[in-house]
Parts: sequence; structure tokens; C-alpha cells
Amino acid sequence: MEHTFDSPRNPGYHSPIMPLALTDLLSPDVPVQGELHVGVPVAELPRLAAALTDSDVELEADISVRPLAGPVAALAVEGRIAGALPLRCQRCLETVRIEIEQALNLAVAVAGNEEQLPAGFEPWPLVAGPVSLGQLLEDELLLSLPLAPVHEDAQACGPLADTLSSMQQETTEQAENPFAVLKDLKR
Ligand SMILES: [Zn+2]
Repeated sequence: MEHTFDSPRNPGYHSPIMPLALTDLLSPDVPVQGELHVGVPVAELPRLAAALTDSDVELEADISVRPLAGPVAALAVEGRIAGALPLRCQRCLETVRIEIEQALNLAVAVAGNEEQLPAGFEPWPLVAGPVSLGQLLEDELLLSLPLAPVHEDAQACGPLADTLSSMQQETTEQAENPFAVLKDLKR
């Protein structure tokens, strides 16, 4: 066992915590250990940027990665990612800033091993090879976005809100018409 202690295969063992980058690949076969404490410009996460009304925002990331002990090779990704994301309000179509704070407690492992991962971690199955830390954070953020963001207070909505709500009402009324006809036919 002694020869593995200073083995170059395990460089993270003695060294201080390594700074990680968004481009670092997470593969359970490589025992990455490190931390990421940075502001992440949304522009670096193109799929997330596409879901926002403005990509000129920065997220706060405090993430640590370490190998997980257990029967299956896995990496723990823990920490949080937070920010105020500019989304399209579904009531007035103007920008509404939604505070997102996503806690991460993930176990990254090859798909199919989910049941053998330590308790207390949410499995993050790898289907097609390693994932970059940035891509993983982006996926987690996309999943945490509200499906229908709206201004909390309807008063904060822009002038289009009234028009849109009356249009929606009209659509609902039109959709009811065919049923009304059926009712008449049955009589
Ligand atoms: Zn609104």
C-alpha cells in the first residue's frame, strides 16, 4: 500500500485543494478534487443564456468536487449556485428577475450505478461520457428555472398584461364553442 501514498497517479492526495474551471471534465475514473468559487458569466453557459432575456448577468458558484468512497467510482459535486436571472414574464412578456438558489448534492457516476451510490446524494448519471463542470451546472440551473415565471405582484407587470389576458380569455371562449354546438346537436 505504501507505494501508492506518493503515487503520481493520485496527485490531489497531498496537495491543497485545486481550483477548478468550468471546462474541467468530470469523469468518475479520474479522482478530481477541487473547488470553484467564482462569478460565472451566463454568457459562458449558452443554453441557459438562450432562456434569458439578457445574458449580461453573473452567477455565484461555490462548488466543491471530490471522489466518493463506495463500491462505484463516483464524484461528489456539492455546494450552491445562485443568481438573479432575467426571465420573460408570462403575464406581460417583459423581464422579471427571478432569484435562483440551487443547492447541489450530486453524485456523478456512470449511468446504471444509481442504486449503489452513497445515500444522501442525488445521482447524476453519465450517459455519454464525462460532463464538464460548466455543463453540469448549466443543466442544474435549467432544471431549477420556473416553468411560468411571472412578476410576483401583477401591478409590476407591463402594459401588455391586460391585452394578453383578454386574448387568453377569448381563446378559451372560442375553444368552448365546439362543445356548445355538440350540446345543441344532442338535443
Ligand atoms: Zn409581468
